[in-house]
Amino acid sequence: MKYAFVAVARPLRGEFTYAVPDELRDHLLPGQRIKVPFGRQTTLGFFLGPAPEPAPELAAKLKPIERILDAEPALPADVVELVRFAARHYRYPLGDALKAALPPGLTRADDAKDAKRDVTIYARAKPGVVLDVLARAPAQHAALSYILAVGGRAELTELAHAIPGAREHVRALVKRGLVVMEEEAIVRGVREGLAQNRPAALTPEQEVAVGTLITALEKQTFAPHLLHGVTGSGKTEVYLRVVERALELGRGALILVPEIALTPQLVGRFKSRFGPNVALIHSALKDSERLRHWQALRRGEVKLAVGVRSAIWAPVKDLGVVVVDEEHDPSFKQEEKLRYQARDLAVVRAQQSGALVVLGSATPSLETFENTRKGRYALVTMSKRVDDRPMPTLELVDLRTERPRTDENKGTEQPLLSPPLRAAIEETLAKQQQVILFLNRRGHSTYIVCEVCGQSLHCPDCDVCLTHHLSSRMLQCHYCGRRSPMPRACPECTGPLLELGIGTERVEAEVVEAFPQARVARLDRDAASSAETLTEMLAAFARRELDILVGTQMVAKGHDFPGVTLVCVLLADSALSLPDFRASERTFHLLTQVAGRAGRGKDPGRVLVQSYNPEAAPIARMLANDFQKFSEDELRRRKLLHWPPDSRMVSVRIEGENADAVIRVSKQLASVAVKAMPPASHGVRLLGPAPAPITRIKGKTRWQLVLKGPSHAALTRPVDAIEKAMEEVPRSVRVLLDVDPAAML
Ligand code: ADP
Ligand code: ZN
Repeated sequence: MKYAFVAVARPLRGEFTYAVPDELRDHLLPGQRIKVPFGRQTTLGFFLGPAPEPAPELAAKLKPIERILDAEPALPADVVELVRFAARHYRYPLGDALKAALPPGLTRADDAKDAKRDVTIYARAKPGVVLDVLARAPAQHAALSYILAVGGRAELTELAHAIPGAREHVRALVKRGLVVMEEEAIVRGVREGLAQNRPAALTPEQEVAVGTLITALEKQTFAPHLLHGVTGSGKTEVYLRVVERALELGRGALILVPEIALTPQLVGRFKSRFGPNVALIHSALKDSERLRHWQALRRGEVKLAVGVRSAIWAPVKDLGVVVVDEEHDPSFKQEEKLRYQARDLAVVRAQQSGALVVLGSATPSLETFENTRKGRYALVTMSKRVDDRPMPTLELVDLRTERPRTDENKGTEQPLLSPPLRAAIEETLAKQQQVILFLNRRGHSTYIVCEVCGQSLHCPDCDVCLTHHLSSRMLQCHYCGRRSPMPRACPECTGPLLELGIGTERVEAEVVEAFPQARVARLDRDAASSAETLTEMLAAFARRELDILVGTQMVAKGHDFPGVTLVCVLLADSALSLPDFRASERTFHLLTQVAGRAGRGKDPGRVLVQSYNPEAAPIARMLANDFQKFSEDELRRRKLLHWPPDSRMVSVRIEGENADAVIRVSKQLASVAVKAMPPASHGVRLLGPAPAPITRIKGKTRWQLVLKGPSHAALTRPVDAIEKAMEEVPRSVRVLLDVDPAAML
């Protein structure tokens, strides 16, 4: 081999040909990271394979590969193949995509360094130790108190941080026989949730599901399955059994979950079942830990990976099964750079590896539902909760007739706490059970308007209203993050300001006022700003140290809190009117998921749904617990309007500070696309150019084009044409392609 195809980690399309120096000839392997000259610099590249001899005049100009950076290819062949698919499908430069599939530490043009096999060191108090014996050793006393205060086991680095000189004191405590040291390759940022062990017996439905999936696994061929199991049907146990079998067969397993910090319980279950043989992949890990987990997979020492969407690139060996838990969850779509949908790539990866793929959800996406209807995916259903626990009862609170109660003493209104809701909360608290209140808007008030001139407070850089955050007394823009002090009066006319539009912060305040005896916490991005506080809050709720949890969609995730018997949706309508064709589906999913948090323990659950618009399909169908009917109707509507999954879509976003330039470029790209469109009979449509629903963000004007067609193949020519024309666009205007876009805002 004298010439090589190389992908360079630069935002450039295409593969490049490099000359192969004699001494490297016998050492090149596909997937290897290499160092190559590029322009006047050198850069990271990937060897893809041998290239044919170019024409002599070209050959003379080719530069040689400078160095091979790893003896064993960093990326295994199957991951390279998956990245190639993704780069092509999502129209992203291959070299940059390959780089995105690497863990931190391997993304520079340096030699591979093994992650230090450093372990986390813990100091554990021996059972039954008491502090009294240390009365005359105050420093050791302090160290041991700390260890006991954090549950009997403290991470040494954290301890040393909290108490100066702690390492020495701990050594003294070890000598005294009060403390032992432990080493563990444990992950930071994620405390294990409530680890649970194997249940005695599977439910009959779990038995069938496990049987079906294991049979498919053993065939060792591509087998896509939807596990449609109602909330609380025990889907996790099914995944665990299938993974167990895969590992027994010597095959690898990859589990994708929406957000690890939000669902520590799930990771806890995997860790308690498979111990140290789980590699974790998520962003709360330190870089060195991520690299260590990644290398353990690459070497085949660990064959099970659990992680968020980026785990789709994990180098799991001999892949036998891929699981995507909560497959409908929007977090599987990456919204920057390589804009991939990890659930879709999971199916592609399983296909390329001849593996079983299990998409699990109580509320499958319409895409997946459609695939089962068409027979492309097999369907496994679990319609009952474990232990014959009933599904929660679903009740409507019609806000058109249920007037809010005015608190006579204070003259204040609590508009989202209707009388039936208050009564239900009171009743639940009286039984010492727990309550979840769900409202998908954070902040205190989300719409502030002047009583005199009617002006509402807008972000000067974005086309959205500002939210008042009471805890910081600041106005905040939820799009660009801009913060400014809350004015006392209207900045235009000094009239008094009215705070309309209720967010979680205000709900929390009202709940505290209405139920002063209850222990209340709020779960949203403001209150749980770090993974640590988030995990703490979830753990405190699980330990029943809190009675009421008020929160945004963060409370709707797969939590399993047996003490929760009441779930209240404060305003089911809030996301319905968003100008997005998925608004209805998203509302149905969210409502069903949050309702599914009720009654998971021995006591039955109850769900109250407040709405001004209870006839709206997602709300009515959710109240009837009718996923089937909702999905069928919604599919029909999508078909009528040619939205996915009835069509395939590519959106083109054009943004820049100069509005005229943005509009000019938008029109130009549209006309380029129109020229390349196939005849009308092929069903390709172009929407726009038009301003995006949110026309300005961070001072940039945003326009969009949307291409829809019966298949991606039908869209190829117009999108190719746009991509080509993008090269000519002035630098002040940014054009972003989003293939299979998730959000239309
Ligand atoms: P889902 O993800 O389907 O909502 P989970 O997997 O969270 O449900 O399971 C719900 C609860 O039921 C968990 O507490 C789990 O430990 C428990 N569970 C699962 N399978 C069984 C079983 N066969 N017997 C008893 N409890 C089970
Ligand atoms: Zn803004």
